[in-house]
Amino acid sequence: MAIRITDDCINCGACEPECPNNAIYEGGIQWRYRDGTSLSGQVDLGNGIMLDADAPHAPISTEYYYIVPSKCTECMGFHEEPQCAAVCPVDCCLPDPNHVESSEQLLAKKAFLHEGAPPAPGIIEVYLEDLERA
Ligand code: SF4
Ligand code: SF4
Repeated sequence: MAIRITDDCINCGACEPECPNNAIYEGGIQWRYRDGTSLSGQVDLGNGIMLDADAPHAPISTEYYYIVPSKCTECMGFHEEPQCAAVCPVDCCLPDPNHVESSEQLLAKKAFLHEGAPPAPGIIEVYLEDLERA
């Protein structure tokens, strides 16, 4: 499942540079799919849905660092454990029960973000959720 940052965050910024997907943003900063990934321009998600990788999206939090669920792979394919949780001094990077994903889905997400693979079934909903929220 994706990792989320709770409101115990002290905004130290230690986690942001550790994320291999650039899924972590400072509160109040806009996020993009293209940041830290191989995505760019219009990306076809299938079923007539297009994702604009270059478009800025509204911050998920304006108070604390936040994680974009559709960009978080729990660090799978890069590291043995979530790097944000490993460096966070107040242990506020926790599994997000609203975004439960299998190892296969997380690896498919990583392949989509970095290797030009199509989004796997089941993860497209997370992208749409992020796009609707933005
Ligand atoms: S678990 Fe890994 S991929 Fe997810 S936000 Fe933390 S550092 Fe980034
Ligand atoms: S490392 Fe922890 S406390 Fe520091 S910004 Fe990231 S989530 Fe917040």
